[in-house]
Amino acid sequence: MIPFLDLKAPHAELRDELRAAYERVLDSGWYVLGGEVEGFEREFAAYCGVAHCIGVGNGLDALHLILRAYGIGAGDEVIVPSNTYIATWLAVSHTGAVPVPVEPDERTYNIDPARIEAVITARTRAIIAVHLYGQPADMDAINAIAGKHRLKVVEDAAQSHGALYKGRRAGSLGDAAGFSFYPGKNLGAIGDGGAVTTDDEALAEKIRLLRNYGSRIKYEHEVPGFNSRLDELQAAILRVKLKRLDEWNDRRREVAAEYLRAPGDARLGLPYSPDWASPAWHLFVVRARHRDALQNWLSEQGIGTMIHYPVPPHLQPAYASMNIAAGALPIAEAIHREVLSLPMGPHLELEDARRVVAALRHFATSGR
Ligand SMILES: *Cc1c(COP(=O)(O)O)cnc(C)c1O
Repeated sequence: MIPFLDLKAPHAELRDELRAAYERVLDSGWYVLGGEVEGFEREFAAYCGVAHCIGVGNGLDALHLILRAYGIGAGDEVIVPSNTYIATWLAVSHTGAVPVPVEPDERTYNIDPARIEAVITARTRAIIAVHLYGQPADMDAINAIAGKHRLKVVEDAAQSHGALYKGRRAGSLGDAAGFSFYPGKNLGAIGDGGAVTTDDEALAEKIRLLRNYGSRIKYEHEVPGFNSRLDELQAAILRVKLKRLDEWNDRRREVAAEYLRAPGDARLGLPYSPDWASPAWHLFVVRARHRDALQNWLSEQGIGTMIHYPVPPHLQPAYASMNIAAGALPIAEAIHREVLSLPMGPHLELEDARRVVAALRHFATSGR
């Protein structure tokens, strides 16, 4: 059996270091907003190549707090990809602003810069670019449009820890970025966690307030803030795992290189990465018209897969009130009907990746 994802293997490899980190926090008597979070913030900012990192409770909060800190709210519009995890849209909705979807480039699955200007209005305040599946979005094109229309650019970097765009790391490519450390992400905690990265000092200061009840000094509340803090234990765990992130991403790249040897054609679409991209391969997503048959076939071969994602945000009951009809965003809808994520992770054996390729090849030649 080749599982879709193995969350235990990375922890087994680091067992002693993780245990030491856990005990250090346990014995410290200090569990929220202390030295571990400060240490992780310093280290992750340096890793991403930005001046500031602010640890928060999860990835959704990271994005939501960025938009709040920019003063985005009711009456505003924020451009989002039609093809993304729902958190990208919810971050906008939770401010009171309206998410305005833009269809993806079919080759990269990421927001298509050529379609952005058509939806910009006097109410538009920001663009959220998602580096979906760990493939960096075309940030130069997006930043150019944003500059022309005075919009903020927010990266949803929840799937792209360590991904490179023209040699620069995700998290340093817009005005601010939101990361998630949900356990299955490339850099994952053993629970929930998130962070904002930015070079904008004023923004960083506002997010430090918003994550902690609007408070800088205990019991003094400058703004009506939230409780969304990365905790000491998760920060200590993340500091251990951050040291392995590049090595683990390289192993993901080796698995991806094996997968890319599968026979790609009209029936089995393989991922495409532009020359300027070095993806973090959070997911390796193939596209098949007969997706469900492919998933069943792989399952029969003992190969675990997942669908990211079966239903796009605009067709979820959560967004029924927006009244975006089925068929209105046809590219995203077709992608959601046809994508399948293959087993991926730093601990997947190359031999297993080759077995997956053999199973794909068999499916492709079976005429389905
Ligand atoms: C995981 C994810 C998020 C949300 O992160 P959480 O930590 O689960 O809140 C946001 N956007 C994308 C693209 C994600 O994959």
